[in-house]
Order: sequence, then C-alpha cells, then structure tokens
Amino acid sequence: MSSRNQRYLFPVMLGIVISLFLVIYLLMFNYFSQVKEGIIQGYMDGIKNDYNITVDTYSRSTNLIFDRVINQEEVLKVFAMGVNARDPEEKDIYRKALYDQLQRFYGILQLYDFKQLQFHEKNNASFIRFHSPLKYGDNLTGYRATVEYVNYNNSKVFAFEGGRIINGYRFVFPLNYEGEHIGSVELSISIKAIVDHMEDSTGKKIQFILKKSGIERKVFESELNNFTPWSLDSRYVLDNSVLSPGFDSHIPASVAEAIRSSIDLNSDTSAPFAFEGLFDGARSVYTFIPVTNLLNTNVAYLICVSDADRIQSAREPFVLFSIVYLLLFVVLLVLALFYDRARRKMRQVLLTDHLTRLDNRHNLMAKMHEEFVRFIRYRGVFSVVILDIDHFKKINDTFGHLKGDDVLRRLSQVLKSNIRAADTVGRYGGEEFLVLLPETNLQDASVVAENLRKKIEEAPLLDDWPVTVSMGVAESNPRQKSIETLVDAADRKLYEAKNAGRNRVCF
Ligand code: GH3
Ligand code: MG
Ligand code: MG
Repeated sequence: MSSRNQRYLFPVMLGIVISLFLVIYLLMFNYFSQVKEGIIQGYMDGIKNDYNITVDTYSRSTNLIFDRVINQEEVLKVFAMGVNARDPEEKDIYRKALYDQLQRFYGILQLYDFKQLQFHEKNNASFIRFHSPLKYGDNLTGYRATVEYVNYNNSKVFAFEGGRIINGYRFVFPLNYEGEHIGSVELSISIKAIVDHMEDSTGKKIQFILKKSGIERKVFESELNNFTPWSLDSRYVLDNSVLSPGFDSHIPASVAEAIRSSIDLNSDTSAPFAFEGLFDGARSVYTFIPVTNLLNTNVAYLICVSDADRIQSAREPFVLFSIVYLLLFVVLLVLALFYDRARRKMRQVLLTDHLTRLDNRHNLMAKMHEEFVRFIRYRGVFSVVILDIDHFKKINDTFGHLKGDDVLRRLSQVLKSNIRAADTVGRYGGEEFLVLLPETNLQDASVVAENLRKKIEEAPLLDDWPVTVSMGVAESNPRQKSIETLVDAADRKLYEAKNAGRNRVCF
C-alpha cells in the first residue's frame, strides 16, 4: 500500500468504527423506544379496560332495572295515559301519578349512582324528569340524540351524552304499551360515578374534560354555572361535579402544551392516547380515554395520570447501557488517537534522518521511485541533483566529529530553505545529499543546483572554514530502466565535478 493510501487508512477506519458505534446505539435506542411504546400501550389498554368494565357493569344493572321495575304494566299504563291525554291538566295528573309511583324507587337509584330517570314522549317532548320534576314539556329534538334515536328506531341505546342539565352515560329504552310505541325512558349515571369507580379501582387520579362547544349549545342557561373553564385548554370545560381538586396545578407548563397538542393530534380518532410527562414533579404517564357520543364523536376525555414506574424500570438499564457505552466509546477513541499519534511518530522516525531531520535514504528512494513511475506513465520530465561535501574528512579530522555533525545539520537547513515546496531533499549517505526536482529539466535543475552551491558557499557553516559542495545533475530519460540508473548518471556527473576541482556543478 502506498504512503498516500496509508494516510487515509486511519481516518477511514475511525469513521467506520464511529459509524458502527452510532448505528448500534441507534438500534438500542430504537429498541428502548419500542419497549416504551409497548409499556404506554399497556397503560392505555389497562385504563380503557377499566372504563369499559365500569360502563359495562352499569349497563347490566340498568337492563335489570328496566326489565324488573320500569317495563311493567302498572308503569307503562300510567305513562301511556299521560302521553295520550290531550288536556294539559289531565296530562299533569298522570305525570304526578307516575312521579308518585316511581319517586321512592328513584331515591334508591340515586344511592346507586344513578342521576336521572326521565320519560319522553314519542315526539321527544320531556314528559317527566325525576331529578327536576318541574321542568317538563320542552322538546328535546336537536338536543338529545339518544332520545331521538330511540324514539325513531324503537330500539335501545347506551351512550355518553351531554344534556340540558347533566352530562352522563345514558341508557335509553323504548317503551311500548299494548303493541304501540309510546315513547322512551332514560336512566343515566353521571360521569362522576364512572370517574369515582375508576379512581377507586385503579388508585389513579382522573380529570374529566368536556368539549366546550357541545356544552354551550345544549345546556340550559341557568345550568351553565355547573361548568368551569379548563385552565389548560380553553376549548374544554370541567364538570363541577367531577372536579378533581388541585389536579391541574400539578401539571407543569410544558406538559400543558403537550396536552393541547396531543389533543389536537388525536381528536379525530376515538382511540386512547398517552404520553410521558411530569406530574407533581414525578415522572408520570398521562392517558387520554376519549368519551364518545352516539355518533362516535369525541366529546370529552378522561385524563388519567399514573406513575411511570414501568417505563422507568425499562429506562434505567438503557441509561446505564448508554453511560457504559459512551465511556467505552470515549476510551476507544482516546486509545485510537494515541495509537494514531504513536503510529505517525514511528513513521516519522522510520522515514527521517535522525541527524539532519531530512528524508532518509529509504524515504528518498521511495519518493524517487514514485516520481519515476509517474514519469514512465505520463512522461514529462524531472531531475535529480546529487551533492557531496568537499573534503569533509578534513573537517572531521580538524574539528572533530561533533563539529562535522553540526556542519551536516546546518547545511541541511540551507538546502531545505532554498528549494521549492514541490522539491524534495534527503540525506543519501554520510555527507551526500540528493535533491529531487519534479517538472524540471536539466537546464533548470542546473540553475537550481548552482544556486544551492552558492548559498552553501556563502553560508557560515563552520567559522571561517570554507565549506563547499560538488554537485552532479541528471535529467529523467525514457531509456533509463530504473531510478537507480538516473541516480547513477547524476553520480557520474558528481565525480566529474570532484575531478574538475570541486565546488562546482556538472550536468
Ligand atoms: P571528497 O571531497 O572527495 O568528498 O572528500 P571527503 O573527505 O568529503 O570524502 P570521503 O568519502 O573521503 O570522506 C567522507 C567522510 O564523511 C568520512 C566520514 O567519516 C564522514 N562522515 C560520514 N558520515 C558522517 C556523519 O554522520 N558525521 C560526521 N561527522 N562525519 C561523517
Ligand atoms: Mg562522499
Ligand atoms: Mg565528500
């Protein structure tokens, strides 16, 4: 592998390793996210189940009440007479009779969370409200979809619905007497009953919010003060009878924002949704159970807050993994960088001449070889200059080896600072140097060599002693078989220079 490729090897390897680390981490993160999603799904399923079971329990008991108490001859007969009466006063007599008949039973129903018992005529006119006996005769068409549905279809319906007085879960049954459909009866439980049951069975805090637009249209004006605007989202109101006191004050502003946006995001579906967020400073899961009406439209939400301990126990190992993984990554990175530094240093040592800090012979020959290969492929031209210090032995003998070394070092500096960046100078042997001049013909190379010779002659390399060099120059030639042939040619020119009296350039 060439040195050029080797230079990129380490960064490329490092890049691959970092990417691998990152990919593994992303996979782990993805896995944790899936686990978390599964856990949140579990929270939603659990709470939705609680809601369904609660409603279902009431449905069953309501069916029983309807069959055993209301759908009975004596009740139906009085209601039928009232419905059929034309004279309002006569109607009132039967209304009163029905009230007297069921009033005690209504009292018992209230003990079991039932809020409403009301009869409607087939045209949706309210016949009697046991919870508000003085309000009757008004027509509920356009206000009470469940009543309209039952009166129209003569079949029962169970659904949540806002009303003109109370919101609740409605169980509406058609009433038939002597083969004739005469109207409907409704039993309903307040949402408070459902919320209380769910809070009891789950031990969690629940807030019930209602869509404001639905309330304003339906509720009697006199009843509007049964609702409080919801501080977290002005599109919703709280039913004062279900207020979970202090609930909202535990919600930080960031979660309030998340609540608003997740309601926006999910309002089209009637599926529950949930997210993790702080509640009263503790990690919690907010679960939204949509409460839908007869048309399966979301009209309210049960917001349930649970401890996020199940998510937390999945998160802890992941966090631990992340920390260990990151540490490992940092350690590996540091080791890799150390290794790279050591490797560069080693390379430096292997390729540099220890005394002069120039390229050593091995490195020099490698570069020359590269240049030669390029020359063979693309032609062009390049030259080499070989340089030998004149009478260096004498310098050593006169001043000692240390001074001799000093001369070699200083001379190297002169060479280095007088060649172009594209040129290479290296120590070829003891007091011999080689300069590689790419893209330079013999003529230009001899000018460079002459310049170097002068610079050395003028440089104060050794006190007053004149240090001079002889040089041989040769140009690349297609007939040459290898770089050694070219160096040999330059060497022969050097020999000529020596013979011609030294301190000169031959080419
Ligand atoms: P010429 O002009 O013919 O080149 O004469 P010269 O004395 O320079 O040539 P010769 O080959 O006779 O001697 C070269 C000397 O360089 C011999 C050797 O001791 C000395 N030398 C080689 N390497 C080093 C070195 O690293 N440091 C020192 N101080 N001297 C060295
Ligand atoms: Mg020599
Ligand atoms: Mg010499």
